[in-house]
Amino acid sequence: SGEGSGSLFLQYQPIYDVASESICGFEALARLKTPSLGLISPLEFIPITEKTKLIIPLGETIFLQAFRFLNRLRDQGCTQMSVSVNVSAIQLLRHDFIPSLQRMIKAMQIDARYLVLEITESVFASNYQEINRILGQLQKIGIQVAMDDFGTGYSSLARERELNINCLKIDKFFIDKLMDLTDEQAISGDIISMAHKLGHCVVAEGIEHERQLSYLKRFFCDKIQGYLISRPLDEEAALALAKEQLTSHPSS
Ligand code: C2E
Ligand code: MG
Ligand code: MG
Repeated sequence: SGEGSGSLFLQYQPIYDVASESICGFEALARLKTPSLGLISPLEFIPITEKTKLIIPLGETIFLQAFRFLNRLRDQGCTQMSVSVNVSAIQLLRHDFIPSLQRMIKAMQIDARYLVLEITESVFASNYQEINRILGQLQKIGIQVAMDDFGTGYSSLARERELNINCLKIDKFFIDKLMDLTDEQAISGDIISMAHKLGHCVVAEGIEHERQLSYLKRFFCDKIQGYLISRPLDEEAALALAKEQLTSHPSS
């Protein structure tokens, strides 16, 4: 968009695979910079774009930028890395969400297996069946689905088994708790084993301290994300980090 209205861009935060000790993908995080207000948090501007339906064109811009990044990763040899994109309920529930996503995937020649869509848990509270049906369709075309902010959205555990998701992201709230609870008191380990029993992979969000990482290793968490590994990076810095990874972990 133009200078007056500010510009939208994406930063990319590495997702780190615990077993292989290497970066296995990136989460795309939206940023808005305006001349008068500077950098605005997505926690502020995303809800506004949702109310005004501006999230629809904005969401397409976000997909196209993230797809270009995925192609740049592939072009520099990082063929196994995935890119995760956050999607709001308003986008997901649009009648043409899947066809328009498929058009963009085709136009940009994206391999859908390396695309992850993140949906916050709170979205499931309403419209559960419709949302789950759409997620099932996304999985059919090869896209991976992650439930974001798990543990904060009060989804019914009774339904967890039938959810069409590949991955569960434990909210930072539980990760922060690891700093002052004992292994016996903390429930992150139980969330991980529950998710594994249901066949889901687990990503822990907001890891800032070694103590949190060592707990998550002990309880077999699959992937982690957080400032301990890296803050969200500008596109060029993210590409450079991914490339660096290629020389140290050639299978990425
Ligand atoms: P999220 O998807 O749960 O993303 C994780 C948030 O935690 C990001 O905040 C990230 O910068 C932050 N984070 C990561 N590691 C750490 C850490 O170690 N410590 C701390 N304190 N924070 C950490 P961010 O970028 O401000 O995004 C906030 C939320 O805005 C996201 O939460 C997501 O729900 C939403 N969002 C961001 N980009 C988009 C987008 O493109 N579309 C939609 N619909 N929502 C978006
Ligand atoms: Mg997310
Ligand atoms: Mg989250």
